[in-house]
Amino acid sequence: MLNLVFFGIQGSGKGTQADMLVQKYDFNHLNIGNLLRSIVKEKIPESRTIHSYISKGELVPDDIILCLLEKTLQNDERRIIFDGFPRTLEQAGYLEKRIPVKYAVSFDLDEKTALKRLSARRLCSNCNTDYNLLIKPPKISDKCDLCGHPLIQREDDYQEAIMRRIKIFHQRTKPLIALFEENDTLIRMDATEPPDIIHQKLIRRIELVK
Ligand code: AMP
Repeated sequence: MLNLVFFGIQGSGKGTQADMLVQKYDFNHLNIGNLLRSIVKEKIPESRTIHSYISKGELVPDDIILCLLEKTLQNDERRIIFDGFPRTLEQAGYLEKRIPVKYAVSFDLDEKTALKRLSARRLCSNCNTDYNLLIKPPKISDKCDLCGHPLIQREDDYQEAIMRRIKIFHQRTKPLIALFEENDTLIRMDATEPPDIIHQKLIRRIELVK
């Protein structure tokens, strides 16, 4: 089964690449950040705890993440793109036992470009679709292409939280990429290239097209 894990620094465009794959091929796009943000919006008992981590740019504790993932994985037999998971060694251990992963894809981007992109990032206030004023702008300024609702900036896309998230990526998530490299299942993509080019290269590398 062609299950994929997407790694990349914030702003590397992994969410955009996942969306492009979903549009053409049958994948379940598991975007953990979006799942967490929708729980925050629901105002259920867990919302405040989760919000307190996200707003500071900290990782949400593993037990919450694994419980959420377990619930989401039930009742879906499609192949999966894990976007934003695993981010810790414990999460990687869970994944290894739970689901076979065919490839991990690392979207490689330097920090300076990532920071520039993050300040141009926008999110639909209604359906969570991602935009970027530099590389993936909406058709009508400040409005979602899909549902027409206003676009907003993410609350964790401010300088301090961004720096915290990038630091955590280097400290906790980057070592996981090496695990896939050791198993020969890692694909590296140059995330400075335009989204369409990356998409074309990616579908060849993961053998969706020859
Ligand atoms: P993202 O949209 O992927 O940038 O994630 C936004 C925020 O959600 C992160 O900064 C974390 O606070 C939280 N988050 C997302 N995925 C995970 C994960 N796998 N483990 C822990 N926290 C996560």
